[in-house]
Amino acid sequence: MNFDTRLIPYGRESVRDAAELLEHGELVAIPTETVYGLAADALNENAVKKIFLAKGRPQDNPLIVHISSMKMLSPLVREIPDTAKVLAERFWGGPLTMIFPKSDKIPSVTSGGLDTVAVRMPASEAAREIIRKCGFPLAAPSANLSGKPSPTTARHVFEDMNGRIPLIIDGGECAVGVESTVICFKGDKIHILRPGGITAEMLSQFCEVEVDKAVTAQPEKDERVLSPGMKYKHYSPKADVYVVNAHGKAFEEYCTKRSRYENKLIALGAGVSEHGVFLDYGSTPEIQAQRLFALLRRVDDLGAKTVLVEMPEQSGMGLAVYNRLLRAAGFKIIKMGDSK
Ligand code: AMP
Ligand code: MG
Repeated sequence: MNFDTRLIPYGRESVRDAAELLEHGELVAIPTETVYGLAADALNENAVKKIFLAKGRPQDNPLIVHISSMKMLSPLVREIPDTAKVLAERFWGGPLTMIFPKSDKIPSVTSGGLDTVAVRMPASEAAREIIRKCGFPLAAPSANLSGKPSPTTARHVFEDMNGRIPLIIDGGECAVGVESTVICFKGDKIHILRPGGITAEMLSQFCEVEVDKAVTAQPEKDERVLSPGMKYKHYSPKADVYVVNAHGKAFEEYCTKRSRYENKLIALGAGVSEHGVFLDYGSTPEIQAQRLFALLRRVDDLGAKTVLVEMPEQSGMGLAVYNRLLRAAGFKIIKMGDSK
């Protein structure tokens, strides 16, 4: 792992370079509509092992396999539930990951030792073109160092992966900004393991939806969770993050009071006008999703020690924002009336 990392814009030549490296079992960071992905040939065990090394990712945390057409799905899985066909028709390409029983083609490192595999077809034209050019599916977790906020620009990827991978394809800012929704099937119902760009409300138009309790609750130590990624601290800046259960004026007053006796404090308000310690993280859940990870990196650049974040909405895209914030905060929520 000692590369002279190239960062080049998405285009015909960079797609060709990316495909060539991926065919040779190397890693390439690629843009998608959710966050940047660190891609490898999903069917090549040695290539996939490099992802875990480059990210410092725990080996039991399985990867999402990205495809560019429905034709690519059947060889990877043993069964495709009818509900999955309906959801694929409606939401692929897009930020929806579905979990299937895996076929023998998927190496065990890719699935984190599980007998299931997570598959998604991205909407991003850049991602799909690279997959098409390769002709094989790509395993691609977020292209950040494990534990850090996911990258939503090529520059973020460079900060984390410089020297660790040969190539980063710059496709501009990610449109969604948080990772895909991850679901599994339980009979006719689906179970949301991780909320994302395709919301529970959108899915419930097609089938019965349950939200896993790990989405908003901290798993007990050693508790077996359905989605291994949910048990790790995640998305964290160096600063200590707190979600503050207050809105508008009450939030602003609380943060202003604390900023009088604490320096290096930054407050992220939902639609606040930026002044003093306040930064705006967006007035709608969609904007918040787009901005969140970049802001979590920015607070570190600004040298923050404490970051107070206004409680987001918990429906629609808000649930994905809340889920990421809870993990960034290590589940620390300040209720009004608490001194800390
Ligand atoms: P990332 O690729 O970093 O966005 O994370 C992928 C997420 O999908 C993690 O939370 C994983 O735990 C989850 N995931 C991937 N494969 C499976 C699977 N086979 N079963 C359950 N969860 C999975
Ligand atoms: Mg990740």
